[in-house]
Amino acid sequence: MADFPSIPGNDALRARLSSMIRSGTLGHAYIIEGETGGDKLRFDLAFAVAKALLCEKKTSALNVFGGVSPIGEISGLSPQGESLPQGEISGLSSQDETCGVSPFGEISGLSPKGESLPCNACPSCVRADAGTHPDIRVIDRGERATLGVDTVRRLKKDAYLIPSESERKVYIIKDADTMTVEAQNAFLLLLEEPPAFVLFLLLCRDSGLMLETIRSRAPALRLSPCSRPVMEEYLLREGKDAARRLFSSDARGRDELLLAAGGDPVLGLELLDGNRLSALREAKRRASELLSLILSGSDEALYTIASMKKPKRDEAAELLFHMRRALRDMLLSKKSRGFETCFYLTPDEAAEASAGCSAKKLALAIDETSSASEAIDAYASVTTTLLSMSIRIRNQ
Ligand SMILES: [Zn+2]
Repeated sequence: MADFPSIPGNDALRARLSSMIRSGTLGHAYIIEGETGGDKLRFDLAFAVAKALLCEKKTSALNVFGGVSPIGEISGLSPQGESLPQGEISGLSSQDETCGVSPFGEISGLSPKGESLPCNACPSCVRADAGTHPDIRVIDRGERATLGVDTVRRLKKDAYLIPSESERKVYIIKDADTMTVEAQNAFLLLLEEPPAFVLFLLLCRDSGLMLETIRSRAPALRLSPCSRPVMEEYLLREGKDAARRLFSSDARGRDELLLAAGGDPVLGLELLDGNRLSALREAKRRASELLSLILSGSDEALYTIASMKKPKRDEAAELLFHMRRALRDMLLSKKSRGFETCFYLTPDEAAEASAGCSAKKLALAIDETSSASEAIDAYASVTTTLLSMSIRIRNQ
């Protein structure tokens, strides 16, 4: 089995990480980013990398191939690790990296038993899962809006202390893109001369918010959306009974969930909650009905909007979001039937909904829904905005 089996899809990324960890060529800092899977998947990947790097099965695999110690001997430190000077590490440069990392070349194989990393069974993996591994540190901004310079200074002090029991020490920095400029500059000094044994994993939504000088020293690892088979496998594994029930009894519900998740396995998992899926279906139904009335030019569209009781801003925003996605599918169906839908389950359903509407009208309607969303974001009256949008679309 390939390494990092808990991470859905992202085969190329997993293979790259696996190769770097097994060959001892993993660097000192990486940015983990990508919208797919949000905070949870970014953290899951970082945690799996930390575990794999410190996994004792990895050490024994390297030792076997390097002939340093007998098979089966699992110790926290390799002979090289033990020879590290205690306490005084700050003088090490990146050239000294081999002191802390096994210097064997490209080892493409698996561990002796062909196990994948992390093994999830060795003492190191067990401690990591229990949250008690002393060489895996998670930096969290907690309730604060930003990661401040004080946190980075404390991290810096800690980073120069040698690992407690492994060859390397991993810092997982959540929301790294919320570091203040002062904090980033302090962190940069650490990145310029990192302790040989340290790995920093910077998790962020948007690495564009970070200084170029940090980005140039921390290559980005980007999580990508998953294919449908990967999504189904992940949901059955993580969503267990809820996924099995939905998949076996409601094929349309399953398809709607996968469509709405858009290749995001964590969102898919959230939608397995029956209430979330029902709410999504209801929201889409309302959007579809209102859109159909607006496009037909019926006065009923205006009555429907006027009769909404105190429409909330976020509900209107969601309504417009779904309407725009429906319009996008309808417009594409005018050109071909070979496209990926985002609202309707199939291009044929989109084509059916768009019967009687010209492509020009649909394109203008998309513009109108976008303008209405902007107005609602800018605190315009919800009812007035929806009414004037409908009238403008009708008058096209
Ligand atoms: Zn392990």
